[in-house]
Amino acid sequence: MTQYNGMKRGYRCLNKVSIMKTIKTVLVSFNEIAEGEYIPEKMQPGVIYYAPHFKVSNHLCLCGCGHPAPLPIGPGHWNLTAGEKGVTLTPSIQQRFACKSHYIITEGKANFV
Ligand SMILES: [Zn+2]
Repeated sequence: MTQYNGMKRGYRCLNKVSIMKTIKTVLVSFNEIAEGEYIPEKMQPGVIYYAPHFKVSNHLCLCGCGHPAPLPIGPGHWNLTAGEKGVTLTPSIQQRFACKSHYIITEGKANFV
């Protein structure tokens, strides 16, 4: 009986961890900026902009706070790929400003952790 309770506690613990892993998921779209053009000053929420000629990506923080989140793209920085299923950015993005959001964008979905 004691052993059974112990196991039950163990499972509950595992469930809690998996629930905490992803707080929420936000769908994102992708906008690749044409050569010689700039990422717009007024960005749309939920859009990942990428200007390959400047090796920079930018978006409004996906928590909804609206803070711009510029990211350098390239070796030693973030890696950006845009495939059929959507945009992927690695590693994860941890905002340094007030909201402290932390999310990873995989195939057009931002998973908050
Ligand atoms: Zn935010």
